[in-house]
Amino acid sequence: MHSLELLNRIQQTWLARVSRHFAQREPVRDSFLHELNRFYDLLQQFLSSGDVTSIDPILIEWSDSLTQSDLEESDAILSPLCDVIFSFAYDICHDLLSQPEALELISALLPVHTHAISFTNKLEKDREIDNIRLRMEKMRTELERLDKSKSDFISVAAHELKTPLTLIEGYAAMLREMISGSDRTDQIAMLLGGMEQGSRRLKRIIDDMIDVSLIDNNLLTLNFQPLWLDRLFSILREEFSTAVSERNQRFEINTFEGCNEMIFADPERLYQALQNLISNAVKYTPDGGYIKIDGRELPGFLEVIIEDTGIGIASEDQMRIFEKFNRIGDATLHSSGKIKFKGGGPGLGLPITKGIIEAHGGALWVESAGYDEEMFPGSTFHVLIPNRKEPPDDKFAKLFGPLIKTTEARGI
Ligand code: ADP
Repeated sequence: MHSLELLNRIQQTWLARVSRHFAQREPVRDSFLHELNRFYDLLQQFLSSGDVTSIDPILIEWSDSLTQSDLEESDAILSPLCDVIFSFAYDICHDLLSQPEALELISALLPVHTHAISFTNKLEKDREIDNIRLRMEKMRTELERLDKSKSDFISVAAHELKTPLTLIEGYAAMLREMISGSDRTDQIAMLLGGMEQGSRRLKRIIDDMIDVSLIDNNLLTLNFQPLWLDRLFSILREEFSTAVSERNQRFEINTFEGCNEMIFADPERLYQALQNLISNAVKYTPDGGYIKIDGRELPGFLEVIIEDTGIGIASEDQMRIFEKFNRIGDATLHSSGKIKFKGGGPGLGLPITKGIIEAHGGALWVESAGYDEEMFPGSTFHVLIPNRKEPPDDKFAKLFGPLIKTTEARGI
């Protein structure tokens, strides 16, 4: 009870000094004085009841009133404020009260001071965590929006480019028919050949852009059909035979258990995926290098392994290469060559390949000891393909039912 009287004795000086301290740069606002008076009332309440939580309501209100920019500055605001308020009370105790009285009031106030510091610290930490969570959520939404507009742009640009390209292709074909028999046939045919080659290359890029936007928007539909990996490999061997011999590379395809068994997958898309990986292996391996396709049967999956003795991939890039437009190195060095050493493309091949494999329910990843254009550590791409013995769709299951039974009976 005595400490309550002592508090009343320092009230006016304390209010005046605290408000003067906070008004050093601007006049004290009425609202601030009002808050200080409320704080003082709650201190009185505490001294009568002994309950340190008496001051919690005002601390919660102060914490709620912090603005977004206060929070973004991240430094604590409330606990230093409480410290200042209490330090003034202690100083005034020394100035206005006798030593035993000062000691009594300070000891009476200490528990509520300690509580105020720990409570405001907790309040501020909670708010900071909420604030960080909110900012992360905002950033995630913004990133999603950016990614969506990037993918919308790809889709629109691809479709817009496709129409004029179709016109060029059509007119080039008509011109080819018209010049047959003319005396400058050879010269014109050479020019036409150049046009046709250019438009074929452009068409491939546009098709890749469309595929990327289909994958981005979860619109890639697979046409599940029976396929045999070894047959796919034979076609790929045939397709790349000229390229690897031009580059003097050794291209080896090993058969492995399961590769001659029928599985259900989208043959065209799987072909496209493996073609991308082999074409990269050819491109990023120097002349005279070695490219090997191997694999193994795993529970529920067939794993295809594409290994090369090329320039390799730095560990920090091994995730990045699967993101669209993320070709490594100097982006201005696009040569668009399909098999030329390091003849990069637009950086869409691997994202499409990954999208195709994942749409099948599989996985794609790379292993490489690093990037080195002198030692050629090589890269190994792993493709996990679900070993589906039936198409996922009922309709197809009915259609291919008899075939499934025959292959089961033959054990292939
Ligand atoms: P690009 O059109 O550039 O070939 P990709 O998406 O197919 O695009 O590949 C992305 C990048 O990954 C390439 O630019 C290259 O830096 C790297 N890369 C892909 N395959 C290999 C490989 N077998 N060896 C070394 N680097 C590779």
